[in-house]
Amino acid sequence: MTGQTKPVPRVLVVGAGIAGMQASLDIANAGYEVVLVERLPSIGGRMAQLSETFPTLDCSQCILTPRTVEVGRHPNIQLLTYSEVESVTGEAGRFQVRIRHHAAYVDWEKCTGCGLCQEKCPSKVPAEFQRGLGTRKAIYTLSPQAVPNKPVIDRDACIYFQKGRCRACEKFCPTGAIAYDQTDTFIETEVGAIILATGYNLYGQENLPEYGGGKIPDVIDALAFERLLSASGPTAGKVLRPSDGREPKEVVFIQCAGSREPARHLPHCSKICCMYSAKQAILYRHRVHDGQAYIFYIDIRSPGKGYDEFIQRAMEKEDVVYLRGKVSRVFAENGRVVVLGADTLSGQQVRIAADLVVVAPAMVPRPETRRLAEMLGVAVDATGWLTAANGELCPMESDRPGVFLAGTAVGPMDIPETVAHASAAAARVMARLRRGE
Ligand SMILES: Cc1cc2nc3c(=O)[nH]c(=O)nc-3n(C[C@H](O)[C@H](O)[C@H](O)COP(=O)(O)OP(=O)(O)OC[C@H]3O[C@@H](n4cnc5c(N)ncnc54)[C@H](O)[C@@H]3O)c2cc1C
Repeated sequence: MTGQTKPVPRVLVVGAGIAGMQASLDIANAGYEVVLVERLPSIGGRMAQLSETFPTLDCSQCILTPRTVEVGRHPNIQLLTYSEVESVTGEAGRFQVRIRHHAAYVDWEKCTGCGLCQEKCPSKVPAEFQRGLGTRKAIYTLSPQAVPNKPVIDRDACIYFQKGRCRACEKFCPTGAIAYDQTDTFIETEVGAIILATGYNLYGQENLPEYGGGKIPDVIDALAFERLLSASGPTAGKVLRPSDGREPKEVVFIQCAGSREPARHLPHCSKICCMYSAKQAILYRHRVHDGQAYIFYIDIRSPGKGYDEFIQRAMEKEDVVYLRGKVSRVFAENGRVVVLGADTLSGQQVRIAADLVVVAPAMVPRPETRRLAEMLGVAVDATGWLTAANGELCPMESDRPGVFLAGTAVGPMDIPETVAHASAAAARVMARLRRGE
């Protein structure tokens, strides 16, 4: 930016998980405008999928909902869901941004969110939000608490789009909001700074053949287990096996699935799995009082206020059996899932015939983050995490002036660290805008 031009007092935030929402609220509450772009139809990110949070066991949705509602209603936040950044030109202080809003095939101005369309739609597919454990309709919202509470039509699952007949949603919609002929629209705006808050994925089970490669129904990943524990999940909070709906009496949790294994998988530690595995084992014991939980671990990493005490609680008060060692193989046998491993403390081989196995896969960057980083000319590391120009002293600033980083798009973090990182990014952006840099 040339010295004479003032920066545009508007900020683009990409990604509306807890990081993007926190940064947006901080900036919007200080009086600046925010354009918040979210790829999915509604906001909240991964936190919306969690049941309860460690170490307090607060209900995740209860903490999150006031924030999502505030973001949705804030006069300084232009919320663009089901949208993606197409291009960015310009430089710090004055970026020109083009955003694509995907066709929802529903006129969101007319839609009241009554849900009748979803009730009447005859087409069912596995629900991504439920990690495939439940189903959704072809016309859907991600969850009942979705903000905005407006549905989208999945063309690939819609009978009308695929076969030219049905139109049930149109027939029943009381406000005439269904718009099959809707097309993508584009929004162009100018912003002074950009915050990238695109979050994380889990390493896919298909990459873990030693744990069944995603082919054994009763071997699920940790996010799927969060959905089983959630009141808004596919089983309304009851822990039931995906294969036959029975209550599992023995559950094995496997930490470091694909983490800290540079030879076969990924080298990094995902930092939060020790904590959430303990949480999940405790919550399982609260749901199934006569159930037994086992946790395989390499070592316990629990630095955080009250975190170590939480692990002790799992071990001592909740009778979770901790086994120090790696699992070598997991396979299905006679309706159960056999886990073979070593307990390196006792020097014994271990064989557990479990009802359910929950793996804690490595946290990995989302593929879209790399695409966005390439578009913006921002550095990523070998794994694909966004990288700060000065990770020690300024972990929220990228190597491109005017582009800032927030939350787990940079690497594994728990919620408190994510929120602190996002607020730090927001503070840095506002300081720059205020100084006219
Ligand atoms: C099983 C499990 C249990 C956990 N339990 C706890 C817990 O109990 N306590 C705790 O503190 N932490 C817990 N965590 C960690 C917690 O989920 C994260 O710290 C937090 O959700 C990170 O938020 P985020 O905003 O950085 O990322 P995300 O929640 O991933 O949000 C990123 C958002 O960006 C959007 N996005 C991505 N790419 C684009 C793009 N190109 N354009 C537009 N939008 C985009 C995504 O759709 C998403 O909405 C758990 C994690 C797991 C896996």
